[in-house]
Amino acid sequence: MWIVPESAIPGLVDEQSAFDAIEATFAAMSRGDAYNFPVVREALGEGRQYGFKSGLDRVGALLGVKAGGYFPGNAERGIPNHQSTVYLFDPDSGKPTAMVGGNLLTALRTAAASAISIKHLARADSEVLGMVGAGHQSAFQMRAAVRARGFKKVIGWNYHPEMLSRLADTAAELGLPFEAVSLEQLGAEADVIITITSSFDAIVQDAHIRPGTHLACMGTDTKGKQEVEAAILARASVFTDEVAQSVSIGEAQHAVAAGLLSEGAITEIGAVINGAHAGRAGAEEITVFDGTGVGLQDLAVASRAVELAVERGLAQQIAF
Ligand code: NAD
Repeated sequence: MWIVPESAIPGLVDEQSAFDAIEATFAAMSRGDAYNFPVVREALGEGRQYGFKSGLDRVGALLGVKAGGYFPGNAERGIPNHQSTVYLFDPDSGKPTAMVGGNLLTALRTAAASAISIKHLARADSEVLGMVGAGHQSAFQMRAAVRARGFKKVIGWNYHPEMLSRLADTAAELGLPFEAVSLEQLGAEADVIITITSSFDAIVQDAHIRPGTHLACMGTDTKGKQEVEAAILARASVFTDEVAQSVSIGEAQHAVAAGLLSEGAITEIGAVINGAHAGRAGAEEITVFDGTGVGLQDLAVASRAVELAVERGLAQQIAF
């Protein structure tokens, strides 16, 4: 069994390898070669959340689980609040094959998902990227998005304005101008909007959004969370990583519950990647990607990390 600690991940899996691994995973899910098992998520009290995301990719020979959650007291101890570890198993024998640090991989695979949606759904002439959210994930989201489209400018809004410096710094690192804007201005100017917050109330309103916008809603991964007004999904073409998660823990949960969107109208992004769905219907269409985060994404990037770590002598092997 291989062990790839969190400390070995930086410099091992880069944005491009995460993008390629996740794009292949979404395509496999849509072909029916791979599927996710039901998510387990438990509140442990005092704000702590713990859960499991798992799945099987029959063709890619991946079986495994990501165990982890959110531990709000960690920051005071100098460790990240989000903690996760991926365990991989041999799908034929069930024997464990690897244990991999999952913190950085989670950020990379989540950013890869929205970047994939931008590649396949955003207008080709998109120039302005709008960011809603300025937490830990936001920098990863911006970097991956800028690789997917040649954005010329980044604009951003955050509930906690004091955090906006993260967006400004990341845009500067990417050589792009950044401007902090109101939500109205963000909707009026952005061609692509990424939402990556822990909000439980709609931040982006229907009135803010103009035709042709692509929204990648990435923060809503739990029942009750919400980032954009349900009416936006009612008039958009809605895509997701997995429909079952989209309607239960994703952004679409609210539009479906309100009767504004039917489950059958939501398309897996894998179908667009595979060419089974044409994707964006025209320059005026609003597209939404509901990125809920699936276990197979974690297995795909963890498996890539193991391959690279073994190749470079960075993995430890133990008899198990
Ligand atoms: P973080 O704690 O570093 O940042 C939280 C962000 O949410 C900040 O921008 C903060 O200002 C904003 N926020 C907090 N309370 C808010 C409120 N009441 N209203 C509006 N905004 C508020 O978190 P992070 O690591 O950047 O993660 C952001 C979100 O992404 C989390 O909700 C996390 O669960 C989710 N996430 C999703 C996936 C996925 O695959 N879809 C993967 C990882 C994380």
